Amino acid sequence: MMQRTYEAFLLLFLALLSKATSVKPCPRPSLPQDDSSFCLSWRLAVEANNLRGWRTVPTQCFRYLETYMIGGQYERDIDFILGQILSYANGIALSDDGMDAWILDVDDTCLSNLFYYKGKRYGCDPYDPSGFKAWAMTGGCPAVPGMLGLFSKLVNSGFKVIMLTGRDEETLGQITAANLHNQGFVGYERLILRTPAYKGQSAVVYKSNIRKQLAEEGYRIWGNIGDQWTDLQGDYVGNRTYKLPNPMYFVP
Ligand SMILES: [Mg+2]
Repeated sequence: MMQRTYEAFLLLFLALLSKATSVKPCPRPSLPQDDSSFCLSWRLAVEANNLRGWRTVPTQCFRYLETYMIGGQYERDIDFILGQILSYANGIALSDDGMDAWILDVDDTCLSNLFYYKGKRYGCDPYDPSGFKAWAMTGGCPAVPGMLGLFSKLVNSGFKVIMLTGRDEETLGQITAANLHNQGFVGYERLILRTPAYKGQSAVVYKSNIRKQLAEEGYRIWGNIGDQWTDLQGDYVGNRTYKLPNPMYFVP
């Protein structure tokens, strides 16, 4: 009896030992080094302004960007930012002098060029000034999802909303005003486009100059929203700046 019990324990011990020694070591966790992993890093670097002066989206990121831009995440990212903007704006006590202002960029901040950029492989193709101008001249840019709601809330709260764009006033002034109107952006204080005096200036210099003038007029710039870092850098940028996502192109 004792012998049998001893043998049974011995067999159990050997079985457990053999199982323990046959377990393979855990593989070191690692992320797949595929395109989407690279493209996520690339997009993060773009949005964080760690990558500057880039001219085209890396070709291997075409499908990744397509999924990001039209698969729902782009809209969710904007929606998240709009929530932050609203909670900040709701906490501002407005003065009664009518000088509490917000600055909104136009392209891919209020009006979306996503449909146009779809035809440019979401920025994998190089910038095409005449193609973009032809698109803008249609006056058919839809509103960026959620932006009209934010715009209306700012206007209805009593803020003076100033649209500031690098679009050329001479050629695109009328159609831009019409496009904003047909998308419901009604009731803004001013639409400022690039006049010949600012031609050739970088976006940072041009927009800083305009904001300086607005500040000298007495406007208090509470917030500034743009899809490009160059909308939000320089002088008189405002109390808070908000960067909307745009991994399709870079404006110097
Ligand atoms: Mg823009």
